[in-house]
Amino acid sequence: MGEKPHAIMIAFPYQGHITPFVNLALKFASKGFTITFVHTHYIHHTISSSNDHTKTSLQGTDFFAQARESGLDIRYTTISDGFPLEFDRALHIKEFWDAMLSDFPGRVDEFIGDMLKQPGYDGVSFLIADTFYSWPATIAFKYNLISVSFWTQPAAVFSVNYHLDLLIENGHFPLKDNINEEIIYIPGVGSINTRDLMPYLKEDEPAKFVQKVIFQAFNEVKKADFILFNTIQELETQTLSALNQKQPTYSVGPVNFFKDLTKNSVSKSLRSESDCTKWLESKPPGSVLYVSFGSHVKSSEQMIQEIAHGLVLSEANFIWVVRTDIADFLPDGFHDDVNGKGLMVPWCDQVTVLSDPAVGGFLTHCGWNSVMESIWCGVRMICYPLYTDQTMNRKLVVDDWKIGIDLCDGMATLMVDRIKVSEKIKMLLNDESDTSRGLKKEVERVNLVLRNALEKDGSSEKNFDQVVQDLKARLLAKN
Ligand code: UDP
Repeated sequence: MGEKPHAIMIAFPYQGHITPFVNLALKFASKGFTITFVHTHYIHHTISSSNDHTKTSLQGTDFFAQARESGLDIRYTTISDGFPLEFDRALHIKEFWDAMLSDFPGRVDEFIGDMLKQPGYDGVSFLIADTFYSWPATIAFKYNLISVSFWTQPAAVFSVNYHLDLLIENGHFPLKDNINEEIIYIPGVGSINTRDLMPYLKEDEPAKFVQKVIFQAFNEVKKADFILFNTIQELETQTLSALNQKQPTYSVGPVNFFKDLTKNSVSKSLRSESDCTKWLESKPPGSVLYVSFGSHVKSSEQMIQEIAHGLVLSEANFIWVVRTDIADFLPDGFHDDVNGKGLMVPWCDQVTVLSDPAVGGFLTHCGWNSVMESIWCGVRMICYPLYTDQTMNRKLVVDDWKIGIDLCDGMATLMVDRIKVSEKIKMLLNDESDTSRGLKKEVERVNLVLRNALEKDGSSEKNFDQVVQDLKARLLAKN
């Protein structure tokens, strides 16, 4: 053989997936892989227009040019998702996802078939794709490629989806509203209450297409050769080892913080970032609450209003990522009421903000990247999960690891109330309170677990080396 292993990597078109997937690509390339990285045209266009490439002329519109300059072998190309650039994918999400299930697999099939005929691509051996896609193992099998699936959420969420048959058998899918039962039959997950399960499992789930996306993805992942998890072995030991009995699994997270990747700057942000550094400089250490509900989940007007009033009542300093799609929900006169204590931005570099000594807490929707980033920065959380994996993530953060508190006392569906919001913020930011001190101690402990996993002899680094070795061995056996 003698040639470098070559993998095609096709990214999933959402921010919370793009960032770890790009970092995974850089990591594989740093281990001697040739990578052909693929974004959809739309994602390429959105990232290009959100980032000022005149500042980094080297990058141009090839996001990986700088990584290549630094010696990594990464090629970059794009594929159409079948819709024109101006089509509003968030507004017409059902139409978009219906086509992603029915039409996109054929596009990927043709795209890969054509690519493999090109000079320099006959040695491609691996297809690495996000677990959420419905086609990776089928297409890999067709072209005799080894299929590697990448799961960007906790292993516990994967395991629940993976064991849909058990949920059905036990009458927990479709999940009836208002039931409150402990589930102990998901392998490796321990005990979990039905109210913490992902909301898309509910009987009255309005967006049925989400169930379809998930179920097809989990049928498909059962055929994958390898599964990588963006989580930490020490934090989900039993879940990972139960899954490992079914298929080869490797926890390699959080990939965004692998040490050797920081020097490679690859544009990944779908929105332009406001710089909060100056504003933060003017605030005392630990006094600022950072508030963000992630990149795409839509919050209700009432929720935004209660949080806004709660922030003002708390008298805390805060930075709030008010995305343009929710900006109209703010109460009238809010900007005046804030009176210098708050900074609203449409988007920011979240890790930079969380790393700032002025930040003492994070009011979060519990997206998995946000949870990992908060732990990385040693910041305690107030949790307000809204959808997808966030309810399960809340359980891990609050009930299991004790590094956050609930905004609504454990119930994701409860309406927020401004008085409670204000009380929780005051409690979190008050270093004198026992709760706050306890959270700080625990977040320092989990921070250490995370940082150790990323050390040279840490679990995520070692698991990454192991997967590289196992991929190469599989390739050798195949040839
Ligand atoms: N993020 C960011 N700037 C912001 C808000 C969020 O860079 O102003 C990033 C954040 O750092 C995280 C991602 O967007 O990496 C959101 O992913 P997550 O899994 O937390 O939530 P999702 O958006 O998938 O619901």
